Parts: sequence; structure tokens; C-alpha cells
Amino acid sequence: MSNPSLLILPGDGIGPEVMTEVRKIIDWYGAKRDLAFDVSEDLVGGAAYDTHGTPLTDETMAKALEADAVLLGAVGGPQYDELDFSVKPERGLLRLRKEMDLFSNLRPAQCFDALADFSSLKRDVVSGLDIMIVRELTSGVYFGEPRGISVNADGEREGVNTQRYTESEIVRVARSAFELAKRRGNKVCSMEKANVMESGILWRETVQKVHDEEYADVELSHMYADAGGMQLCRWPKQFDVIVTDNLFGDLLSDVAAMLTGSLGMLPSASLGAPAENGRPKALYEPVHGSAPDIAGQGKANPIACILSFAMALRYSFDQGVEADRLEAAVEKVLADGLRTADLMGPEGGTPVSTSEMGDAVIAALDASL
Ligand code: NAD
Repeated sequence: MSNPSLLILPGDGIGPEVMTEVRKIIDWYGAKRDLAFDVSEDLVGGAAYDTHGTPLTDETMAKALEADAVLLGAVGGPQYDELDFSVKPERGLLRLRKEMDLFSNLRPAQCFDALADFSSLKRDVVSGLDIMIVRELTSGVYFGEPRGISVNADGEREGVNTQRYTESEIVRVARSAFELAKRRGNKVCSMEKANVMESGILWRETVQKVHDEEYADVELSHMYADAGGMQLCRWPKQFDVIVTDNLFGDLLSDVAAMLTGSLGMLPSASLGAPAENGRPKALYEPVHGSAPDIAGQGKANPIACILSFAMALRYSFDQGVEADRLEAAVEKVLADGLRTADLMGPEGGTPVSTSEMGDAVIAALDASL
């Protein structure tokens, strides 16, 4: 059997720096765990524009559709700010999401004990937190028609966006959340605004129907999204998996992310429908951007990108034990007090560079054998 394939798109700014550390970890799995990947690397974002005049070539897009998983660093930078909208670096990322039809966006909010004091909430509220927000990514108000700014009959300008969901769009993201819950705490909370929005009523009814017909063994609750925001700040540990639409998911996943502290720690996955081999189309990427203010200085925290690869192990390659191993290695390095600049709080720690952090994770992986 051939090895699973992984397309790596480091992108711009700190993207290539953090991806270098992930490459070390991928190599470690090949050498030490007999878990080899066929890795290819290509350009995306500003780097692709500089070489090809487009943020994503058709050839790279075709490779992404072929690969078992895509791992992306970050795109963008001030030198591309004046480019035409159609060739901006972000268009490369949006094209990948659209053509791979990645409708389910997974954003974990996990609080490592060693970093609990980074949260703006009290230690006991966030310590040990491990929740997952599943956001619908390809429909809803960001895509619905009609949209635009026009002049109405009274001669006044008005802006319009349309929240629209079909049943099948809700069904597939609900299934994705229930499947995930079965591998975790077996609990899903669905969030919408069924009290004021018809699309919310359809959302609630449809999620309930998918539950009753296919996932009756998973615990399901419903919450209005505004109340959900409050509960996330009050007692986030009540949740396991939260499933919600594109707009509310955008907001709630950022709220949940900040429960845990630094942007340099946050991974994400965007999943599509399963292919013939059972693997979903999948793109893994850190939540942070290209951080031009620290690019090229060895200051970037590679952990968000490393944890994105851990998600790939778990959700694309069915290697949950190895994903646990990698997450435990990250936890150990943090518990040992190693800190890139973004993690340096008042309690101090041992300052390390991007590559020293990657090497420390490798050492912790070695120690786990
Ligand atoms: P950013 O996430 O790049 O940076 C925000 C702040 O967090 C900066 O001070 C940065 O130094 C710090 N930071 C981010 N990641 C870090 C890491 N791994 N380690 C240490 N510190 C880290 O957001 P921004 O400054 O708003 O955007 C910069 C560029 O990135 C823009 O061009 C933007 O469009 C782009 N961007 C890309 C993505 C993506 O590729 N998915 C996401 C967000 C922003």
C-alpha cells in the first residue's frame, strides 16, 4: 500500500518558519513510528503570486484535490495590500476552501494547564478545558443572495445580506458534529437564533431530526447563540462539541479561542465530504495569520501549526493514539517552562526560538517511546 499523501503549502510570513518545524515532526513519525507520508510542497498566497502572478495555480489546486490532506501555514502581508482583490493572497485560501467544498470547520479550544494563567478568565474556569466548535463554512449569510449595497425607493442607501440554509447543508454539518462527539465526550450543543430567525428554526428542527434518526445515543441540547456566548465565558467546561452556522460560528469560535490565551497555540481543520477511501477532503491550518511583524526573526510559535498536524493525524489518518502522543509532547514542553516570546507571561520561563521549540517537541516525542 502506498503512503498517505500530504500537500504542504507554507505560504507567507511566518508560514514557512512554522512549517519547517512541522516537517521535522512528519520526518520523526516516518523514522520512529513507521508512519511515512508522501509529502509534496507547493506555493500559495503571496509566494505563489510572486512566482506565478496568481495566489493559487490550477496545478496546485489539482494537487490539493488529489491529496489525502493539505497542511497550510499562513498567507498575506503588507506588500500585497495594494493588489487587485482577485489576486490577493487570501483568494488562494478561499479558492482551496471553496473547490474542496470544506463545509465543516473545526476549531478546538483546549487549555494546556501550564498556560491557564494566560486566559482572561480565572484558572479554575479554563484549566483542563477541551471543547470543539464546529462551524458551517460554505453557506449562510456570508454567501446568501441577494446581497449588496443599493439605493432604495426613498433614495437612501441600504445594505443587504441574506441568511439562507438548505436542509441538506444543515444535515451534513450536523452529521460531522455528531461523528466528532462520538469520538469525544458524546455531547453536542447546537446554537442558533430560532427565537428570531426562520433559518434558525429550520436549523434547530433539522439538527434534532438528524439526531433522532441517526445519533440518538449522542446527548443533544439546543441554545440560542447569544446565550451560548455568555455560557462560553461563564462555564465553558459544560460543553463538548458545539455546532453552529457560519456567522455565529465565526464569532463563537473566536470567543472560545480567547479562553485559552495565545493565537500561536490555536489549530484548525476544515473538512469536506468523505472520498471513496473514507477520508474527508481536509485542510489543516493554524488560526493565526502570517505575522509580518515577527517574520524571519525566529520568534514565531510553531505550536498552532504542530497541533494542526496532530488534527490531521486524528481526523484524516485515523491515528488518534499518535495525535495524543504529539499533543502530550506539546503539553510536556510547556510544563517544562519552554516559551516562545508570545507565551512569555509574568511568571517567566525559558525563552526559546521557533526551531528550539520544534526540537523540544521532538525530544519529548523521543522520550514518549
Ligand atoms: P496575525 O495572526 O498574523 O498576527 C496577529 C498578532 O499575533 C501579531 O502581533 C503576531 O506577531 C502575533 N502572532 C500570530 N501568530 C503568531 C505565532 N505563531 N507566534 C507568535 N506570535 C504570533 O494577524 P494580522 O497581523 O491581523 O495579519 C497579518 C497578515 O496575515 C495579514 O496579511 C492578514 O491578512 C493575514 N492573515 C492570514 C490568515 C491565514 O492565512 N489564515 C489569517 C489571519 C490573517
